[in-house]
Order: sequence, then C-alpha cells, then structure tokens
Amino acid sequence: MVSVSDAQAIILNLVQPLNHQRDTEVIDLLIANSRILAKPVTSPLDFPHWDNSAMDGYAVRYEDVQHSSENPAILEIVEDIPAGYQPKFTIQPGQTARIFTGAVIPAGADTVVMQEKTRREENRVFILDAPKPQEFVRHKASFYQSGTQLLPAGIKLNAPEIAVLAAAQCPQVSVYRRPRVAIFSTGDELMTVDQPLQPGQIVDSNQYALAALVRQSGAEPILLGIVKDDPVALEKVIAHAVAIADIVLSSGGVSVGDYDYVDKILESLRAKIHIRSVEMRPGKPLTVATFPTQNFPLYFGLPGNPAAVLVTFWRFVLPVIKKLSGITEGWESVFLKVRSHHELRSNGKRETYLWGKLHLIDGVYEFHQADGSQSSGNLINLAQTNALAVLPVGKTLIYPQEEVQVLQLSNG
Ligand code: AMP
Ligand code: MG
Repeated sequence: MVSVSDAQAIILNLVQPLNHQRDTEVIDLLIANSRILAKPVTSPLDFPHWDNSAMDGYAVRYEDVQHSSENPAILEIVEDIPAGYQPKFTIQPGQTARIFTGAVIPAGADTVVMQEKTRREENRVFILDAPKPQEFVRHKASFYQSGTQLLPAGIKLNAPEIAVLAAAQCPQVSVYRRPRVAIFSTGDELMTVDQPLQPGQIVDSNQYALAALVRQSGAEPILLGIVKDDPVALEKVIAHAVAIADIVLSSGGVSVGDYDYVDKILESLRAKIHIRSVEMRPGKPLTVATFPTQNFPLYFGLPGNPAAVLVTFWRFVLPVIKKLSGITEGWESVFLKVRSHHELRSNGKRETYLWGKLHLIDGVYEFHQADGSQSSGNLINLAQTNALAVLPVGKTLIYPQEEVQVLQLSNG
C-alpha cells in the first residue's frame, strides 16, 4: 500500500503530455473556449496598431500648451478625428485637432488634452491646464511588438486569450485534441438507468459520474457500458479500451473479493501494475497500470463504491488528464487551508477525505461537512460537494473552527 503523495508522484510520472505535432487539430476560434493552445502565436500587428488617444479631447503639440496653467494657449482646430478616421492634416504650431478615444493621433501632435481641461469657442479651443508631455497617448507597439510571442503554447484559452487571438486576426487556432478516456463499469449487480431493478440490483451510477467528470475536465469520454464479473468479457473490454484510449477508467472489481478479476486480467494482458492500493479513505483499492503498446495508455481500476470513484477521480485522475491535455502548468491538485465549521473525525489509519461544501463567510472560506453518513457507499449526500477536507494519517480529530486542508473542486 502506497501513501497518497507517493501514489500521486508515481501516477504523474507515468503520463506524458500529448504530442504538440501529432495530437493537434485546427478549430474555429469561436469554439476554442477551454481548449489548450498547441502552438505559440505571433502576430504581424503591433498593439496598438498606431499612436491613439486614450481620451476625448484635443491632440496638441506639447510645446504649444506647456504653459497653459498660467497662460491658456489658444489653438486653431483643423479637423475632427473620430475613431476609425484617418487624419488628413499635420498639426502645425498653434493648431490642434478635435480627437476621440481610440482615434489616430495626427502627425505633428504628441499629447492629448482631455476635453474637461478646455473651453471651445467655434473654431478655436482654449487649453486651460498644462498636460504632461505625451499625456493620454497610447503609443504604437507599447502593448505588444509585432513578431514577438503573443501567446505561448500550453495555455488554456479562456475569454481573455480568445479576445487577444481575435484582435490578432486569428480566426482559427491550433489546439491539442481532447484526451480520450474510455469508461466502463464492472459488476453483475449493475443495471442501466432505464432497467427495472430486481432485488440485489443497483443502477450503474459510476458511469454517469465518470462521464460527467471526464467531460468537465475537457477530455472526451468514450462509454463502454457495463461488463459482467466474467473474466472473458472483462478481458475483451479491457483489451479494446486500451487500444482506443489515452486513459481507461473502470470501476469495481479491484478489491480482494472472489469476483474482483481486474488485476488478474491486466496481468494476463502484459500490463505493468504500478499501484494496487493506496493509503486513503475512501479509495483504498486502486489499481494503476500501463500497457507496453504504442499509445501507452494509463489504466485506472477505480474502486466500485460511488464516493470512492469521485474522490479518487478528483485526487488522481484529474491531474493526469490535465497533464496529458498539453497544459504546461497547474496540473496538481490545489489545497487550501480553511476553517472547519464542524468537528471532523477519522480513524487516523489512512489519509481521510471527507466531502462537503466551502461556504464564504464574511469573505473567508469555511468547510461544512456534508450531513449524513460519510460511508463510501453513500452517494446521496455527495450532491453539491465542492470540496474535500483532508485529514492526514494519524490525525483523528479536527475541532470546530480549527484549520483544515481542503481540496477545492471546480464544479463550474
Ligand atoms: P466492488 O469494488 O466491485 O466490490 O464494488 C464495491 C461496491 O460499489 C459494491 O457495493 C457495488 O455494488 C458498488 N458499485 C460497483 N460498481 C458500481 C457502479 N458502477 N455504480 C454504482 N455502484 C457500484
Ligand atoms: Mg464488483
């Protein structure tokens, strides 16, 4: 049995990110939200493209207006320059142009005086206050210089990055393909959601949970259904799954019961088993294996208990999907230190994960353990979970208001 931190290190070491040449696709920018950029982007455009005004006001020559606080300058207005308009005149001594936010600074001018510091009289304007040299001018290339790197590869494309790519006239982008995750459930007792249940039978909820988790992680779930506790059927499905996916997630059948065949089948298929059980609760029976095939799939034999499936996914599988996805940083789980609302208990023998909710109280997060049983077979009170409190080995009690580490889950 390995510790949770050793298990995480072993597992992350087994994963190589997708290939930045082979494993990419070109997609429309409009559907690129949450995808991972596969190639660095450079632009032939400067940002700003030209010197432009940060204010509504007047484009002036600084030397004409530098003494305006004592002695207002009076300038002749030669043209109006709204946004989108190309100036026609060069500003000569004693001249100015009316200018609006985002509009091109005309030749000759070097400074903008905001309109609140002026008084207009027909074709003339009085400058009532001296500006600073170059005030309110956004200089060409001051935000970004053409030809340099605009965005690096390996970042997630969210609204700001998508806006940058749009401004740089990139209607299509090269992104990593979604990691493929095959999912199946094992157990003679399992039925699909639409089948009537006989005594002893339950619905295969793990397949639904895993499909949702995988999709939310940005990967593509491939659902392979329910497999009976039958070595022949299991071997067939496992062989198929590892041939088509980057990651395989099975649930159930990895414990020490008479009908738990998964590990034996993995061995018969020449898989290398790296982990068989982890010192955690829930989630002790956890098999992690690799196959010596070209796509080097990573196999997770997750426990069958519904709570254990969710907890082991959040703790171990999610970082793997992130690393595989091509994103260059931020794979590891994020832990916060917060106050616990309730007393939290563990038997201290294994690292214990208790599910519940982070509430914001006066701007500070507080962990509220879910009401009801924290049994790994209890699925019902997992609803609305957004954090797991972690009690390390040896820690049996956290008092109310005491600090506890939590794994924050992104459910958004
Ligand atoms: P196992 O690890 O196969 O011994 O399963 C442990 C427990 O989890 C048993 O009570 C199973 O009935 C339950 N279980 C296994 N697979 C699933 C599933 N796909 N959905 C819901 N519960 C399951
Ligand atoms: Mg089973």
